[in-house]
Amino acid sequence: MSDKQEYIAKLEKAISQKYGDTTINNPKRFWNEDKEKEYINQSQEEQRKFAKLAESQDKVEQDGFLINKKLLNRDHNRTCPVCHKYSFRPKDDLYMNKFEACFKCYIQYVEDREERWATGWRPNEEE
Ligand SMILES: [Zn+2]
Repeated sequence: MSDKQEYIAKLEKAISQKYGDTTINNPKRFWNEDKEKEYINQSQEEQRKFAKLAESQDKVEQDGFLINKKLLNRDHNRTCPVCHKYSFRPKDDLYMNKFEACFKCYIQYVEDREERWATGWRPNEEE
């Protein structure tokens, strides 16, 4: 093996350790510094695009939910009027907006009794 071949073999080994075998087995995708830069630029570009898209839709991801950014800033909607618990969970946010109760209170007081709730009935503070 010539020095050059040995160098290439070492390089390929290093690349395969870093990026997996497919990179080497596919000559078109042979990895080098330029390609790496290009790849990083592309993924940064994609992230920017995604961030811009998310911004334009006014949605942000939280706990795997896409929720409206404005809701995040509406702190008064984060305290359940029924149990007075403060919640950051988008699920609670949803029920809070719709029923003025967190998810737990919805299950406990509202579910299957939506009409009573809609007329303004609320559980006693002591309960
Ligand atoms: Zn509650």
